[in-house]
Amino acid sequence: MPAALTALGVHATYGILALAGIVSLAFRRGRVVFALLTLAIAYAAYRRYLQPAVPQDIVFAVFGALCLFVPFNLAALSLVRERGTFNRHGLLRLAVIALQAVLAAWAALPGNSATREWLYASLVSHAPWGATAVPQIGLAAIVLSALVAGIAWYRTRSAVDLALAGGVVAFGIAAHGVTTPNMFGAFLAAGALILAIGVLQDTFRMAFRDELTGLPGRRALNERLAGLGPHYAIAMLDVDHFKSLNDTHGHDVGDQVLKLAASRIARVRGGGEAYRFGGEEFTVIFPGRSVEEAAPHLEALREEIAGYRMEMRHSARESQGKPGKQQRAARKGEPTLSVTVSIGVAGSGSRLDTPEAVVQAADKALYRAKDKGRNRVSR
Ligand code: GH3
Ligand code: MG
Ligand code: MG
Repeated sequence: MPAALTALGVHATYGILALAGIVSLAFRRGRVVFALLTLAIAYAAYRRYLQPAVPQDIVFAVFGALCLFVPFNLAALSLVRERGTFNRHGLLRLAVIALQAVLAAWAALPGNSATREWLYASLVSHAPWGATAVPQIGLAAIVLSALVAGIAWYRTRSAVDLALAGGVVAFGIAAHGVTTPNMFGAFLAAGALILAIGVLQDTFRMAFRDELTGLPGRRALNERLAGLGPHYAIAMLDVDHFKSLNDTHGHDVGDQVLKLAASRIARVRGGGEAYRFGGEEFTVIFPGRSVEEAAPHLEALREEIAGYRMEMRHSARESQGKPGKQQRAARKGEPTLSVTVSIGVAGSGSRLDTPEAVVQAADKALYRAKDKGRNRVSR
């Protein structure tokens, strides 16, 4: 970096951290706020303590603590729920970070060489990987934390969880290159950017995906309808007698049925794209297809749903915690539920030349299917 721009090397990292912080505060992603705070503290500690003039004991204590606590915090944040920033949960998270700073300072005390030796202890005597400044315990923390956050992402599919895993990796690279000028700041900034992008991706998903079923929702449907070409078929699906299912088995069971039905609707063949229209109603768009081409796939979908025996969890509330042995045993004899759907389908043509008109026609066809006795496809 040219000499005139060295100040940028220092302040750019703070600038990017601050920008990412503003984004996550604006979108109320408290988990990301605390992840960024951790990175900011790491960078401040680097600027202040990981410098040539600082006594060795302090350098080793601070770096060892960073390699342990930064990955730990990001992984822990991938495991906790989103609870915002400025509340008692945020205060607790802040307290954990403050405690870590105290521990790092304690490890730096002149009389505390045993702690520093522990931080730099060898787990493996002949490390098969190349030389790195990162102590082995820190290395283990980085690898483990990236795995934990990666698994959290695999389970939730939340972009923030993936970004937390990315943040751990970015920190790992930064720590590995801590002796190379600007490398630590550059990779912490990369971590902050990854987190900010994760916030935006998650927000996008929240706006366009229906939370219960995971299908794209009404907003996504409206945009898709506006972008359709001249030829398409649209189907409206409605679960039959869903109100009485809710009344008999409760709203929680109703939700589970909707989820399972949605997972089948999402797998519709023939190029159909499934959306949750709202409530127990779904829309399937067949771009470039006629009603004749779409109908057999809808008929197959209707049949599959009608033949699907849905196993219900004992109750949605119990399923929030881990099921105990007794509950699991009780569930074995649990009866299965099944539902049917009625489907109306219409296609674009000279008479129906806007997506809105086709949706209306499909809705009318749906009512004909209901009138004829439900569990059928009407055009
Ligand atoms: P039909 O065969 O004529 O469609 O009868 P229906 O009972 O399905 O029709 P109706 O539209 O009267 O009832 C729909 C019910 O779906 C009403 C509402 O309680 C329920 N419902 C809508 N959204 C949800 C949801 O997200 N979860 C649950 N559990 N129930 C929902
Ligand atoms: Mg309905
Ligand atoms: Mg219904």
